[in-house]
Order: sequence, then structure tokens, then C-alpha cells
Amino acid sequence: MTATINRSASDVNDIINAFLKRRQILVEDAPWKVRESPLGGLGIFAEHDLNPGDIIYRDYPVILGPRCLAEPTDMCVSCYSILDLSPCPKKCGLLLCSNCQASPAHREECEFLGQRISGDRSDKITSHLTNSLTPLRSLFLSLEDKAVVLYLKVSI
Ligand SMILES: [Zn+2]
Ligand SMILES: [Zn+2]
Repeated sequence: MTATINRSASDVNDIINAFLKRRQILVEDAPWKVRESPLGGLGIFAEHDLNPGDIIYRDYPVILGPRCLAEPTDMCVSCYSILDLSPCPKKCGLLLCSNCQASPAHREECEFLGQRISGDRSDKITSHLTNSLTPLRSLFLSLEDKAVVLYLKVSI
């Protein structure tokens, strides 16, 4: 069963522009717009001729996290540095660099994982936790960011 949503080009433009504004990377008077495509569905179209050096679009991932690998690389789960790593001193035991040990960015997932794991953690369990972070972060998205994923998944 596939979920269907009613989306217009105007809705998609609004969702994308609101996301870019929340991330503070919205290009004012951007030279593009999502429109109905004569080929079917929606497409991104230039609003005017572009010149070399024009900023067309600034992007930022809706979800950012470690890749799911059989043998994940040891890295800070917050900033992805591979230097100066140690297990999170709070609840989860995931690897963090010294700069991110007290970072609030990791707090929500740390508390979630800390409530669900206990006892000694092997490297294999830490590896599974690292691989689960990106899907877990998708669950922690705001409703507005979940709408971005939903609209882009079915739109462009
Ligand atoms: Zn870090
Ligand atoms: Zn933690």
C-alpha cells in the first residue's frame, strides 16, 4: 500500500522554501521554481536565464547521520570527526569526540538509547547502535521536516 498525498507545485515550493528558511540558507529571489512538468509530475524550472556564478540553490540534508555499514568506521556520532574519540559519558556509550562530549545535539538520541540499553556494551552492540542512528534521527524530525521528506519522496 502506497500513501498518497495531495500536493501541488505551490505546496512543494512552500515546503522547500520553509525548510531552507528554517536552516537559514534560503536564497532570496531564487531563480527556480517547482512547477507542473509537461512531461508529467513536477519539475524544477529556471525562472530566468542564469549567469556563471549565480547561486541557484543552497542545500542542507534533512537527515544527517552515519552510513549503515557492516563494519562502521569509528567516528564521532555528532560531528563525524575520527579524532580524539571516547564513549559518550552519559547513557548511550556511542563514540563522541572531545568537542562533542557535552553537545546538546546528541542529547535526545542519547536519552532515548540510554533508556533502552543497559549493562556492558560490546563493540558489536555499539556498531548496531551506530547503524541505527540515521533511521532513529528520522523519527526525531520535527513535523515540518517530516513533511519535507514526504513531499520530496513522492514529488521530484
Ligand atoms: Zn564531535
Ligand atoms: Zn550519548
